[in-house]
Amino acid sequence: MPLHQSRRIYADHALLTDGWHAQVVVDINADGMISAVHSNVDPAQRRQQPCDWSCRHLVPAICNLHSHAFQRAMAGCSERLDSADKRNFWGWREHMYRLANALTPDSLSAISRLAYMEMLEAGFAAVAEFHYVHHAADGSHYQPLEQMAQGILAAAADSGIGLCLLPVLYTQADADGRALAAQQLRFGNSVDDYLRLLQAINGCLDHHAADTQLGMAAHSLRAVSPAQLQCLLQQLQPQQPLHIHVAEQRAEVTSVQQHLGLPPLQWLLENTNIDQRWCLVHATHATTAELKALQQTGCSIGLCPQTEANLGDGVFALPDWLAMGGHSGIGTDANIRISVTEELRLLEYTQRLLQQRRQVLQPGDIADNIDAQGEALYRHALRGGAQALQRRSGVIASGHWADLLHLDGSVCGMDHLNRSNLIDGWLFAAGSDMVRDVWSAGRHVVVNGRHVQRQQICSDYAAAMRNIQHSLT
Ligand code: ZN
Repeated sequence: MPLHQSRRIYADHALLTDGWHAQVVVDINADGMISAVHSNVDPAQRRQQPCDWSCRHLVPAICNLHSHAFQRAMAGCSERLDSADKRNFWGWREHMYRLANALTPDSLSAISRLAYMEMLEAGFAAVAEFHYVHHAADGSHYQPLEQMAQGILAAAADSGIGLCLLPVLYTQADADGRALAAQQLRFGNSVDDYLRLLQAINGCLDHHAADTQLGMAAHSLRAVSPAQLQCLLQQLQPQQPLHIHVAEQRAEVTSVQQHLGLPPLQWLLENTNIDQRWCLVHATHATTAELKALQQTGCSIGLCPQTEANLGDGVFALPDWLAMGGHSGIGTDANIRISVTEELRLLEYTQRLLQQRRQVLQPGDIADNIDAQGEALYRHALRGGAQALQRRSGVIASGHWADLLHLDGSVCGMDHLNRSNLIDGWLFAAGSDMVRDVWSAGRHVVVNGRHVQRQQICSDYAAAMRNIQHSLT
């Protein structure tokens, strides 16, 4: 069923590039891009050109810069007590491998559809999908080669989320170059196979929405050799995003240092030309010197607070990064909980607990005249997310995708919020209940708090889960 495309939206108040405006009309063209924004439009003018929808507060919707959609299927299923030596990231990874090896193209698609629906209901308009389950469980290739990627593309099309698909190069089990383990075979590609896969996926994009993008990703310096990473970088196009997991775990930092001679971030800084197309996912164990050098490159850092907390990764030095003027955004990564507000709130609360004070995160790249902490943090993450996806979004302005979010506090006892504290109230108090409508590139996919295809998507997900339930125990 085609998703409804809005053409004209009215808001009592809207957060534009220079702050809040009243009586705003947003015009959207047939492709889903904002074509004009008008403030102080009086009721008589609005009657002449009626709007599709009316909102109380309209803000830009955010990009989710890091997701493994299939992991939504194991949410809540990895908390049973493991043996003491496995109560860590590596023990969790064994649970994840069991699920990954049970997936079929159909179940991957059904799970991804549910995850994308929940992202939209949380207020995300687009997602960067870090996609590494490419082949059958024994490593043999599907026909066509891109069959799993097609499942992701179909999930994005059905849910209406804006997709930046990041096929992942994954060639080895560790930085010492050892061969993939049996449970990693379906992730593996030679560089040549990877480039063929990219080409095949690229050939599918004509059948998808105009805002669908294809980026590139290296899994990590554990899983890709220096020579392979260089081959991949040679193919990177202008404006094409490049994502990589880096410095998430201490054991990873140690392994890369041992085999490549430098810790991973320092190795990347000295051996590649990092620029604003790069999103370094996690960077949890970055040193101050590495952060200073990274800030100069213009890259973004992909923070995934709930997943990093769940996996016991560690705490990224975000106050330092913000003070340097570094760019960052948020990702839902393992999709244990899918929530804009919980990701941002956890970022701030972690720092409050560590520093024993309040209002710690002050984005240096946001204008000084914002005195609402939640709004400053949200606007920082809007910018960082749009950069990580290389998507023209994150602001309500002509020439950008109509990624829009209608917030209304009156539906959840938060009617006292006004535009000066609306985003603070959403992030710190109200949560997803305040999300009433979401548009992704003009597609009106969440209406009155619910995704327009929720019933069908939930029923398809339940059917898919019956076939893979055994992998979750
Ligand atoms: Zn990840």
